[in-house]
Amino acid sequence: MEAGRRSSTKPVQSLKPTKTVSVDEDLTKASDALPLPLHLSNAVFFTLFFSAVYFLLSHWREKIRTSTPLSVVTFSEIIAILAFVASFIYLLGFFGIDFVQSLILRPQTEVWNSEDDDEVADVLLRKKDARKVPCGQALDCSLPPLPPPAPIVTVQKVLDENPVTVLTEEDEEIIKSVVAGTTPSYSLESKLGDCKRAAAIRREALQRLTGKSLEGLPLDGFDYESILGQCCEMPVGYVQIPVGIAGPLLINGREYSVPMATTEGCLVASTNRGCKAIHLSGGATSTLLRDGMTRAPVVRFGTAKRAADLKLYLEDPDNFDTLAVVFNRSSRFGRLQGIKCAIAGKNLYLRFTCTTGDAMGMNMVSKGVQNVLDFLQTDFPDMDVMGISGNFCSDKKPAAVNWIEGRGKSVVCEAIIKGDVVRKVLKTTVESLVELNMLKNLTGSAMAGALGGFNAHASNIVTAVYIATGQDPAQNVESSHCITMMEAVNDGKDLHISVTMPSIEVGTVGGGTQLASQSACLNLLGVKGASKESAGANSRMLAAVVAGAVLAGELSLMSALAAGQLVKSHMKYNRSNKDVSKASS
Ligand code: ADP
Repeated sequence: MEAGRRSSTKPVQSLKPTKTVSVDEDLTKASDALPLPLHLSNAVFFTLFFSAVYFLLSHWREKIRTSTPLSVVTFSEIIAILAFVASFIYLLGFFGIDFVQSLILRPQTEVWNSEDDDEVADVLLRKKDARKVPCGQALDCSLPPLPPPAPIVTVQKVLDENPVTVLTEEDEEIIKSVVAGTTPSYSLESKLGDCKRAAAIRREALQRLTGKSLEGLPLDGFDYESILGQCCEMPVGYVQIPVGIAGPLLINGREYSVPMATTEGCLVASTNRGCKAIHLSGGATSTLLRDGMTRAPVVRFGTAKRAADLKLYLEDPDNFDTLAVVFNRSSRFGRLQGIKCAIAGKNLYLRFTCTTGDAMGMNMVSKGVQNVLDFLQTDFPDMDVMGISGNFCSDKKPAAVNWIEGRGKSVVCEAIIKGDVVRKVLKTTVESLVELNMLKNLTGSAMAGALGGFNAHASNIVTAVYIATGQDPAQNVESSHCITMMEAVNDGKDLHISVTMPSIEVGTVGGGTQLASQSACLNLLGVKGASKESAGANSRMLAAVVAGAVLAGELSLMSALAAGQLVKSHMKYNRSNKDVSKASS
């Protein structure tokens, strides 16, 4: 197989709403087989065609004039007839087939268009319905019945003005230059000024370079402009992750339908069962303990004494106001709360903490830290800034500092689950749950030397909600720090359960939260974008929802374990009856 050609004639996605074509179909013509360049062979056959016609007509006119029968054919006439037939076939093949094909294929485009009309109407209808239902509000969250559910693909098509991508001859030239390495793949967006076309071209070049098909990874139905310079570089498509809903989750008197993006069977069903148990018991209470994002640069001095001088300077309350003014210049929302320092020899780690409004806040805190470092350089000119992040922050790594000091939102969420709910919904007993929690989440995790991992599966819920709502999924590491406590209360009849989570790092503005799907999930929770009432209220509410959903997940999984149901339910929800070997083949 040629390196520069696709390995098969699989369809490529098209930019225009026309037919889906294969590369071979699109680019290969019969004339490619000719030994002459295209314009020369066209000229030869045109000349041949008209010469033969002229020759035959003039000969036949002469025969009619001299009353010679037309059936008497001379050798030169046979040659002329053959030349006429050959050139006619060539010209028909060259100009005629595309025309005939376009006539045949036009109805397909029309069918699509009419489908799109239906889809637009469907989306408008859904929009109208949505307006009638105040989202994320207690008891008002039940959606009115929708018209028969449209397939997911329908909605995706509506989002996209160019449903299917067709690569043009001009694109083909660019693909070739990307494959040859003359055009850098990363420069396609800026060169073309069309993010979707850039993605289509990059994708095709990638397939040719690797000889591997990307069929199954969708290209169409995504707004590539929305991720430019913000969420993802060099896109070639997007991965689809199903979103399930757990709930209603009743926290602090309000109901939430919790979106969870996951491919783990059982997870949503299990969390949903936990939500039901919480709801039937009167709901959960969530309390915010702290709200502050951190960033810790590392700076180096010539001596440990100088590093200690800066530590004392930064921790002196008299200097805080000045430092806060310098830090807060970076943003309307970033407000310095404190600086905690740690020394390792001549190296000093400065852990800045600040509020960040509704943003998760990494960018915001980094800008403030940079301001302070620039300011300190005047009084500490011998300070070398080794890195704006020195890992004492600590971002996306398991670290005791987050577990003890907190990072982002520190939340505790609790509920009292009634004894009969434990029996009827969770199919276990208060006593079994308390005992298992002590043995597994506390003692078992201590035996394992856990760091913030005193729970059953907090990260399952955290990650699913993070992906659905556009959070940074890598921050599930510290965001999943959680200790789950269970205790029998009310004379042993009921269960008190709590989750304490010191580092929930969430935002409702910035990053992936503004993308269409993720922002729809935030909207469902009633926490989309910046809070209008008070900066930070939306992100704090999202943290409360995360903790509440974790509470539900812990309750349900622990109950399944206590009742010995885990394997049974996983066999039911994780293993469909499909023959997996057949599916993979
Ligand atoms: P992060 O700091 O989480 O990486 P970004 O810096 O990307 O987030 O996004 C925050 C941006 O949103 C900032 O430019 C900030 O000024 C703006 N913004 C608007 N409203 C708010 C709000 N209520 N809370 C926080 N930031 C907000």
